[in-house]
Order: sequence, then C-alpha cells, then structure tokens
Amino acid sequence: MGRNNLGGAHVKIDPKIESILNKALAGKEINREEAVELVKINEHSYEMYALMSVANTLTRRQFGNKGEIFAQVGINVWPCPRNCGFCSFGADWNVIESRVELSLEEVVERVLIVNRIDPLCANKIDPLENKNNQH
Ligand code: SF4
Repeated sequence: MGRNNLGGAHVKIDPKIESILNKALAGKEINREEAVELVKINEHSYEMYALMSVANTLTRRQFGNKGEIFAQVGINVWPCPRNCGFCSFGADWNVIESRVELSLEEVVERVLIVNRIDPLCANKIDPLENKNNQH
C-alpha cells in the first residue's frame, strides 16, 4: 500500500491504483489494462474515493469548473420486459407499476416547470412554439 497526496488526503491506497490515478492527474492517457483495474475497484474502498476525487479534479480542470444540467421529461414509460440488470425501467424491479403516457398538455406543463428551474439557461426553448405552429 502506498501513501498518497491525492486530493490532499493522506490515506493508504493500493500503489497500483495510485500510480494509475497519478498518471491521469498528470494528463497522460491510461491504457486498457489500467482502465480495467479502475473498474475493479471495490466501491467501499479508499481507492474508490481516490478515484472519485481524481475524476472530480479532472472534470473541473477540463471544463473550467463549470457544468450544465440537462433535464429530461419522460413522455411515456412502462415496465420493460427485457429487465436489464442496471435499468430501473425493468419490470422485475417494480419501480414502474403501470404504463404512463403524458398528454401534450402534461408534457408542456413539465417543460415549463423544468424551464423555470434553470433561470440561467442560455438555450431556453419555447415549449409552446411548436404547439402554436401546428396546423
Ligand atoms: S435498458 Fe431498460 S428500458 Fe432498455 S431494454 Fe433494458 S430494461 Fe428495457
């Protein structure tokens, strides 16, 4: 185990992981084997927190400490029979109980709500524009 300065914390982490993270922090591209090592990190380990810290640092560095938030409006959804293990839409997970399909008015209402949430949004859309232009 190595002792590291990642993010200012002084905890012991696996030196192999530390080396990969320091490589990334130095702006060098990691290779496939190194990426696989990162994927294998236990989610409850110090190594995972080091990975998250480095990811945060690199993201903020890349994007000048700015971020964009995208909101989605679900128009229709139903329990999906494919049941992919990672997806909450899968029927077996019982997150979605029945088919839901929004009306046009409900979609517009939700878009207006989302639009109000982000007053600094530079690319606001007019949810009524297409509705009013329909023939
Ligand atoms: S990802 Fe989700 S919605 Fe897509 S097929 Fe799998 S369970 Fe269905």
